[in-house]
Amino acid sequence: MTTTSIIHIAGLEGGLVNLTSDQLDELDSRVEGPLLRVGDEGWNDAVLTWNGMVAASPALVAQPISARDVAAAIGFARHFKLRLSVKGGGHNIAGTAIAEGGLTLDMSRLRDVTVDPEAKLAHVGPGCLLKDVDMATQKHGLATVLGFVSEVGVAGLTLGGGLGSLTRRFGWAVDNLQEVEIVTADGEIRTANRDENADLFWALRGAGANLGVVTRFTFRLHEVGPTVYGGLIAWPFERADEILQAYRTITAEAPRELAMWLLLIQAPPAPFVPEQCHGKKICAMAVCYSGDLDQVDQVLAPIRALGEPVVDLLREQPYTQVQSYLDATEPKGLHYYWKTEYAAELSDELLSTVRDLFVECSIPGAELGFLHIGGAFNEHDENDGAVGNRDARYVLGANGMWEPDEPHADTFRQWIRDAWERQRPFSTGRTYINFQTADEDEERIRATYGANFDRLMKIKEQYDPGNMFRANRNIRPRA
Ligand SMILES: Cc1cc2nc3c(=O)[nH]c(=O)nc-3n(C[C@H](O)[C@H](O)[C@H](O)COP(=O)(O)OP(=O)(O)OC[C@H]3O[C@@H](n4cnc5c(N)ncnc54)[C@H](O)[C@@H]3O)c2cc1C
Repeated sequence: MTTTSIIHIAGLEGGLVNLTSDQLDELDSRVEGPLLRVGDEGWNDAVLTWNGMVAASPALVAQPISARDVAAAIGFARHFKLRLSVKGGGHNIAGTAIAEGGLTLDMSRLRDVTVDPEAKLAHVGPGCLLKDVDMATQKHGLATVLGFVSEVGVAGLTLGGGLGSLTRRFGWAVDNLQEVEIVTADGEIRTANRDENADLFWALRGAGANLGVVTRFTFRLHEVGPTVYGGLIAWPFERADEILQAYRTITAEAPRELAMWLLLIQAPPAPFVPEQCHGKKICAMAVCYSGDLDQVDQVLAPIRALGEPVVDLLREQPYTQVQSYLDATEPKGLHYYWKTEYAAELSDELLSTVRDLFVECSIPGAELGFLHIGGAFNEHDENDGAVGNRDARYVLGANGMWEPDEPHADTFRQWIRDAWERQRPFSTGRTYINFQTADEDEERIRATYGANFDRLMKIKEQYDPGNMFRANRNIRPRA
């Protein structure tokens, strides 16, 4: 660590806390992993987050290598009343991994995965990205529910719920969470599962970032792959009405092994897209069929029956490849702005609204569309974990991305907000915490948890009465 006599760190309740070099040395001696300051080797990677729109910079980074390190750092932050944040994969769109000017725990040195194929369990470090887990579990033909972009962090995704191409088969990621090790605000290292610290385990299945720092996740695994059938298929936007209606029918009848995402986008100038389509609006489906490959022709027949796609990348391929082929579409550092809702059904009016919106849309990097969830997800009780939303069958989104120097950024952002207003009447009234942007208010956080909110607040009071863990989509209303 670079040495200077005093460092100013943002205080938990505002203002600055001045730490002397002796105090920093004390932290250094208690935490075995590195402490970093601006200019130190590794600093840039440690503070890099995905959404350039909300990028922030801490004053100090600790990189724990054990739960004891995490406990020591939490104790130090509590003693000096420092603003504390935790970085998993750094992909939260609201930029919650970094508290400006504060102390960040960058978990990237805790990136190990241990698979127990007999017990069908994976023990996962909190610094893991999705790809770390998929790669390790797929060696045994096993997988758990994770998301669609392999660079995302397991910790943030899971603690907010976690959905992906296996959701219809096995529910939320947290429905597959067996146990965690967590350090709470009092510095205790606790185990939480359905029997031990059961209330804490209930709350962190959906609102986990509010309750402590998870230092180990244990997931239940299922037999998946290693070869599945999937990829992208797309048609000209002129066929939008037909494709949107087909999507509704196919998803309503699909087996749970078929995950389908419908995207209205501008075709990228990629080698697999015919040149005459580059920059043109298209209707794309991102598909993952993880069932019996002998049945694939039958299962995909309604998609194939649509005929004449302009892009067809559907084929047998490794599950890990399907889990990562969208990575390049979401590079770090661009400005991202999303608005999403849950929908219980796709009405005619919703489909035509989304089509009309995309006709009007002039943002080159916009994506409008639906993610099909439901299935096993709907079969749990609403209060099985704080995460709830068991009535949702689709995620409905209007997403935009642009370069940091985009001159029309304000117009683009407003367009996304307006599109969202036109989509909201079709929502269940609830929304996914992991897709919320920094400008969404407390009502949205409350709506996320619905009837589970009051119980969640009681558990928050019990484990984090001082709201130390507030660098997140914070459930505790500000005074
Ligand atoms: C390109 C992209 C694709 C996505 N796809 C999906 C998807 O398919 N499915 C889905 O469900 N979500 C998806 N998401 C949303 C994703 O779940 C959230 O962005 C999530 O917050 C990312 O987790 P992270 O660890 O990368 O983020 P971070 O920004 O590092 O952390 C997110 C939050 O979790 C907290 N946190 C991190 N680690 C810990 C820990 N160990 N203990 C306690 N709190 C911690 C942080 O403090 C922060 O508040 C996607 C996001 C992006 C950007």
